[in-house]
Amino acid sequence: AVKAGKRGTFQFYDRQMSAGLEERRQLEADLRRAIEREELELHYQPSVVLKTGEIAGFEALARWRHPVRGNVPPSLFISIAEECGLIHAIGEWSLTEACRQAATWPERLKIAVNLSPVQFAGPDLVGMVRGVLARTGLPAHRLELEITEQMLLDSGEATLATLRDLKALGLHVAMDDFGTGYSSLNYLRSFPFDRIKVDRSFVTGLGTGAPNTAIVRAVIDIARVLGMRTTAEGIETAEQHQVLALLGCDEVQGYLFSRPVPAEEARALIARWCAENRKAKTLAA
Ligand code: C2E
Ligand code: MG
Ligand code: MG
Ligand code: MG
Repeated sequence: AVKAGKRGTFQFYDRQMSAGLEERRQLEADLRRAIEREELELHYQPSVVLKTGEIAGFEALARWRHPVRGNVPPSLFISIAEECGLIHAIGEWSLTEACRQAATWPERLKIAVNLSPVQFAGPDLVGMVRGVLARTGLPAHRLELEITEQMLLDSGEATLATLRDLKALGLHVAMDDFGTGYSSLNYLRSFPFDRIKVDRSFVTGLGTGAPNTAIVRAVIDIARVLGMRTTAEGIETAEQHQVLALLGCDEVQGYLFSRPVPAEEARALIARWCAENRKAKTLAA
């Protein structure tokens, strides 16, 4: 179960959540039917290897096309799902859908899926993930689970044990939105993350002389020392890209490369990348 006080704090930070109580109740009722009515869909945003420009994989991001309201942002419907417990069903649906999709891609591509902190509090997260991997046939090493610091707020031994059990399945875990929590550095010390995703708020303003550059450099250096990889989120300009290259960031993600796109478009992106790669190899031969 999720603590009300904690959730209240979380709500406070999100502008999208200013929807009235009545509206949230209505959305909750609609969301209960959204999976079976096939109103939920995953979009996929590529993550690019900074040094080579190759696609490393994609992050799955949930979309809800409401029959009357149109697109409802995930910041709103995920928080509603977390409050009413629907996140367990939605989380399993997302993971299944994402793994099934990724299993059809070239083997070198990974898939990243966001996990809600509430899923950690639920029953048998590890069993659920193991089951999804078995059903979809996706090799565990191609899956990366993204977890925000929110989860770690009341991180006890149980959370740490769950993280270790997840990693024992052979998958990878990333700390998402790094830098936005209260105690990011402390968590890095005690949790076995494979990757740090530097929050978009630090990427914005890179190269403009703001202290952001120094902060991102420090994060990348810390990650290297700890043996973790780094991804920068929300790259929108060539300048941000250049600065991140100088700082030695491993992967980049953002509108500069691609917005999150439906599965068919992700497939087209992959096909184009494969064709370009073949061409390059032929030229080199
Ligand atoms: P996130 O995991 O940090 O995902 C990155 C968000 O930044 C996505 O927003 C993405 O569309 C957006 N983004 C990517 N590149 C850029 C850029 O260059 N500029 C800007 N301005 N934005 C960019 P989105 O899709 O609205 O998702 C918001 C959050 O909702 C996600 O943040 C994640 O925490 C949560 N979420 C989305 N799908 C799921 C899901 O299936 N399960 C769970 N538990 N959470 C999800
Ligand atoms: Mg994420
Ligand atoms: Mg993020
Ligand atoms: Mg985020």
